[in-house]
Amino acid sequence: MAGNGHNPHYHKVRTSKKPAVSLRFRPCATLFHPDQYRPMPDPSVMDKLVSLAKRRGFVFQSSEVYGGLGSVWDYGPLGVALKRNIKDRWWHSLVQARDDIEGLDAAILMHPKVWEASGHVGGFSDPMVDCRACKARFRADKLAESRCPQKPSKTPGAHSACDLTEPRQFNLMFKTFMGPMEESASVVYLRPETAQGIYVNYLNVLNSSRQRIPFGIAQIGKAFRNEITPGNFIFRTREFEQMEMQFFVKPGTDEEWFERWRVIRMAWYLGLGLDSARLRWHQHEAGELAHYAKAAYDIEYEFPFGWQEIEGVHNRTDFDLSRHQEHSGKKLEYFEQATNERYLPYIVETSAGADRVALTVMVDAYREEMVEGELRVVMGFAPQVAPIKVAVLPLMKKDGQPELALELYHDLRTRLPAFYDDGGAIGRRYRRQDEIGTPWCITIDHDTAAQRSVTIRHRDSMAQDRVGLDQARSWLMERLG
Ligand code: ATP
Repeated sequence: MAGNGHNPHYHKVRTSKKPAVSLRFRPCATLFHPDQYRPMPDPSVMDKLVSLAKRRGFVFQSSEVYGGLGSVWDYGPLGVALKRNIKDRWWHSLVQARDDIEGLDAAILMHPKVWEASGHVGGFSDPMVDCRACKARFRADKLAESRCPQKPSKTPGAHSACDLTEPRQFNLMFKTFMGPMEESASVVYLRPETAQGIYVNYLNVLNSSRQRIPFGIAQIGKAFRNEITPGNFIFRTREFEQMEMQFFVKPGTDEEWFERWRVIRMAWYLGLGLDSARLRWHQHEAGELAHYAKAAYDIEYEFPFGWQEIEGVHNRTDFDLSRHQEHSGKKLEYFEQATNERYLPYIVETSAGADRVALTVMVDAYREEMVEGELRVVMGFAPQVAPIKVAVLPLMKKDGQPELALELYHDLRTRLPAFYDDGGAIGRRYRRQDEIGTPWCITIDHDTAAQRSVTIRHRDSMAQDRVGLDQARSWLMERLG
């Protein structure tokens, strides 16, 4: 739905941390609507992006030679670099740049009791609606955004032949077996979220790092959900990466920390260079809130397919730790020396998807311009996340230009991702770099040898600066910060 990714008629029932509790349909509350005078995003951008992503090596369909595997994607050379840059920035801002957050890399497979305690075995499900006529299946909270396979394509239920069932629950966890026997006693799950690995390790991290509350644990890792209606390219997939941070605080200080984390997380997205007018907060209303959560806000981005969540910031109270304490029989309380108090900390969570953020960055960066009668496609990535920072291009394949260019390229690539290209007309080579979002191109020309200088061309303005050959590296490093 253009302009509002949330169906106003149905309340969102399921999230990973929100075992399904109710099928009541409630309208969503949307705060902050900054888009009154802006054009809507162009829906055709998604098709163009999917094609560019494949052509230029950002993202490929998984197992494509066998016809592909539904909603599973592989990252090519540029995509893996882009996603890595996003994850590195997240990790740097939370773990490296702060004293009060530690890193963790917990295993994907966990004790099955973890998922009983968390509520995922009992309730991690999407309410689904089946059509008895065409056999298609739809998420009950996304009916207005779904399309019926009958022609002409309409929303499910809109054709006279449609025959929809009542919403029913489907568990989204992938199951497998551990050990040689495929029996119920050896069932394990592929984790549907990374957070549980943090909760069950919180005392290990606390004691080994000598942190004190308030402190946080951050983790980046794969998660798996057997989504029934995945889609929109890498927006909702069955295998994805999460970037989750759980911040443990003293009860009573949770509201203040919650507000602090909201500010920090929105600032992080603005730091990725995203258009602030396409970002907003969505507050979960009472009916939409998980039963244990005290407050929950989503950071939403306006995609060509509507406003959608990219990160959740949740005040989870002591729900998770008390569940694990109860199910494991182990005390998980924190002892506060200064006050001689024992308590279960409250948790403020920030939970983002690395793939979803990568898609956000790509959608936000994509633009088309007419330049001298020709279409120019530009991925306007912020330099810090661009997969390649600089391309080195000899103007001609003669007069020693390739040799000088290669020398500069070999020097630059020791410090930053660089690319060398001497094939074809210079205009075409610039366009190829524009299309993958390389912020700068350095051209070696006939004056370079004599004057020891190069031209640096800016992707966005296409303006060119003349810079000393020996200064090129520091010129770039300064701009990358
Ligand atoms: P949605 O309703 O959009 O599926 P959710 O509310 O279930 O998302 P959470 O369980 O809160 O999501 O997960 C936190 C973050 O993990 C989301 O904001 C999103 O960025 C990412 N995420 C969740 N499910 C997927 C998925 N299937 N594919 C890609 N990213 C996902």
